[in-house]
Amino acid sequence: MTLPTYLNHIGGESRPAIGGGWLDSTDPSTGRVWARVPDSGPDDVAEAVDAARRAAPEWGAVPPARRAAVLRRWARAVVEHADDLARTESRDNGRVLRETRGADLPGGAMHIEYNAGLADTVTGDTLHMGGTASVSTRLEPYGVVGVILPWNAPLAMFFAKVSGALAAGNAVVVKPAEQACCSVLAGCALLEEAGLPPGAVNVVAGTGERAGEALVSHPGVAKVHFTGSTATGRRVTELSAAGITDLSLELGGKSACIVFDDADLDAAAAGAAGAIYTGGAGQSCVAASRFVVQDGVFEAFTERVREYARALRVGAPGAPDTGMGPIASEEQYRKVLSYLELGPKEGAELLFGGGSGPDALTEPDPALAGGYWVEPTLFRTGDNGLRICQEEIFGPVAVALPFTAEEEAYAIANGTGYGLAGGAWTRDLARARRAVDAIDAGTVWINTFRRIHWAVPFGGRKQSGNLPSNGPDALREWLTLKAAWIEPG
Ligand code: NAD
Repeated sequence: MTLPTYLNHIGGESRPAIGGGWLDSTDPSTGRVWARVPDSGPDDVAEAVDAARRAAPEWGAVPPARRAAVLRRWARAVVEHADDLARTESRDNGRVLRETRGADLPGGAMHIEYNAGLADTVTGDTLHMGGTASVSTRLEPYGVVGVILPWNAPLAMFFAKVSGALAAGNAVVVKPAEQACCSVLAGCALLEEAGLPPGAVNVVAGTGERAGEALVSHPGVAKVHFTGSTATGRRVTELSAAGITDLSLELGGKSACIVFDDADLDAAAAGAAGAIYTGGAGQSCVAASRFVVQDGVFEAFTERVREYARALRVGAPGAPDTGMGPIASEEQYRKVLSYLELGPKEGAELLFGGGSGPDALTEPDPALAGGYWVEPTLFRTGDNGLRICQEEIFGPVAVALPFTAEEEAYAIANGTGYGLAGGAWTRDLARARRAVDAIDAGTVWINTFRRIHWAVPFGGRKQSGNLPSNGPDALREWLTLKAAWIEPG
């Protein structure tokens, strides 16, 4: 059987890698290769950057309202093709169709629409300097920007980042993750159909080491937007130093979900469990990976979480009643398994789960026997210093940590290198406000968790990243500032 092949998108054309190499894309629910994608290298990246450089002046000169009109046509095309694109993504990275089709695709189209609405809102300042000089500031597109994507939600991130960059007037070169890029490559044809000039968006598939490093290091790329792990973010930061390339980083997290003893425990358990076991089987940067639970309700809360996990159907991502799919790649699966082994070795108690492979499926299914399955898992420990509490596992594995006094909960919540998100469940409004003050993260949720919206700023602190994305200032990260001094001639 010949496998479907997906091609790079460069200068408006579909192309294989120049060197002719291919990478396998595996269906994580079966463990079998289902498609091939180009194994691109520096030459492919150079062609994509050249195409973007040619397109940038034309696209940057399009009046913002007309750019917005093109983006809106793109958003409509995404809605029309949502079913196919969502199915391709679910096949490729194992996220359940309920999430890709139900949330990422419609949400992605809304995100494009939102950024389209921002296109003609960019303003500058007039500075009064005295004398005859008139000084104004203006925000200009960078020209060519590079975007590097992770595999956990490729299309949602592609729509968000690319529409922001385009609304601001940039041309873009995207390097999606090699483990899951078929949906992004499949959706490229919609770009020029919507009226984008060829070369305004280019997508080059390949590994991080070859294609990713070439993109970050290319002198023609004025800004890089990187989403991925903190370790890779560090490497990208080193590479960007050579050209002093501007950098936005959206990195990993180890978010704490604090449960106080006055919380609505049913809601807290459903919210916390849903934010780690669903949402891509815990492969979410804002997963609730640490439950920080007050002594008096620890047993009652963790028991409710266990019930939630027991009711969750683990199985084929495309089935309508599946609540949790597989881990997205073999490499990530091995990583999650290593933490399942590490927990007990470090002295953590396994409260439930811990299984993997076909036994983790809710119902046996020979077709899925080779898939990367992990049971929803919960450890308990009193030591936030354990590696399972400090390191991002990126799978359906949470740790429950008991606490007594309120300050202790905040110390645990803030006691990692990450600062992406966190939250608390309480009925006490004053305590809720204290939690918002105390949690050192870019997003804090009270009596809810793992909510992200295009209209709400989102970004990390500490080792979780720098500039926020989304929200009314979303275009700022795609624009560079110029001050103009003008004297009468
Ligand atoms: P990753 O860091 O392994 O890879 C991300 C991307 O970087 C991929 O496209 C990869 O090919 C590329 N890459 C790898 N090495 C590179 C290099 N040396 N130079 C340039 N590019 C390179 O991350 P992942 O495993 O694909 O994704 C999971 C991670 O992403 C998690 O840590 C998660 O928290 C994070 N994430 C963060 C956010 C956020 O908004 N903060 C959103 C989604 C995912």
